[in-house]
Amino acid sequence: MKTNLLNLTPAHAAETLGAFLAARGEPAYRVKQLLPALWQHPVTAFQEVTTLPQALRDALDEAFALPRLSLVARQSSSDGTEKFLFQLQDGQSIETVAIPDADRMTFCISSQAGCALQCAFCATGVMGFARNLEVHEIAGQVRELALLDPPVRPTNIVFMGMGEPLMNWGNVDPTLTILTAPDGFGIGARHITVSTVGVLPGIIALGERPEQFRLAISIHAPSDELRRSLMPINVKYPLAEVVAAAAAFDRRVTFEYVMLGGINDEPEHADQLAALARECKAFVNLIPLHPGGAGNFTPTTAAGIRAFASRLRRIGVEVAIRKSRGKDIAAACGQLRVERLRRRAHHAPQQDGDVHVACAVGARFHRRPA
Ligand code: SAH
Repeated sequence: MKTNLLNLTPAHAAETLGAFLAARGEPAYRVKQLLPALWQHPVTAFQEVTTLPQALRDALDEAFALPRLSLVARQSSSDGTEKFLFQLQDGQSIETVAIPDADRMTFCISSQAGCALQCAFCATGVMGFARNLEVHEIAGQVRELALLDPPVRPTNIVFMGMGEPLMNWGNVDPTLTILTAPDGFGIGARHITVSTVGVLPGIIALGERPEQFRLAISIHAPSDELRRSLMPINVKYPLAEVVAAAAAFDRRVTFEYVMLGGINDEPEHADQLAALARECKAFVNLIPLHPGGAGNFTPTTAAGIRAFASRLRRIGVEVAIRKSRGKDIAAACGQLRVERLRRRAHHAPQQDGDVHVACAVGARFHRRPA
């Protein structure tokens, strides 16, 4: 059985390769020739590392696997947002969204196939939970886009695709190392945001890492009663505990709040939300509801969102309204995959432009002054 080098952190892969090379009597400097082939300048097989002798390339390909994700769909929005659907080796599929914005390119990546959380407005919840993604499947989303011609490379990463990253901490933790390591993708931790419904042990584990990763918490409702009705996880991790964890986190946290017309967008909700945000000095991101999620929700009007934001601001809370991106391609959490399943089920003809990209994820992430 081949060793999968892409499930390892760069340091661990270097050790593994070092031992292999030493056993073959190869010089140690070859590790440095090989490591970039994993993440920095990825190859599909060691055959492509032409600086190495042919016999060594053959031996490496025989001993080690560099597994791929297969790209089965790629959709582009007129605003430049792109959505990618990957199929995994066991047939599961996951999505990745690439969102260009001025000098930034944000990748919204998935951490699980499906999701167990069943948030009332989220398309991914509808498909249920299939499994956790392995390290090489999470970091592999970034790797696959780097393998495209021309390559697509991120400046920022948000864990806002499918799944709950902090319920897959065992694999997200080493993935964060691959994303930040200089011999991995070399992305600064401040440019990487982990988004969670508030999984407390995961928040603590993330806070214990020395790097300045950003934490976003999906709040979506300012009272336990309302939040329970929208997010069943609130039974396990109620608001008070989530807010306390945010306060204990040693970096500033962002609250995500999706605006649901007539549900969580009244002035009293703004007041309650402001109190929570002030308690842990959170920055609030108001998210316009992406159409095509789950449930029968109505988006709050743009004017309604602005009024809600002003009310928060008056109480002294910093707030941003997230820009919706890729409206002409459905890029919201889980939408592309749901769309394809539906099509398959109904044998509907493939139409161009009927994908509504709803990247709940997408859009603009608040940039804090450095
Ligand atoms: N499980 C994590 C990360 C994935 S979802 C979390 O919940 O934070 C990323 C963000 O998209 C979350 O804030 C989620 O609530 C939001 N989201 C899901 N469906 C949405 C929709 N239809 N419109 C707007 N935001 C949505």
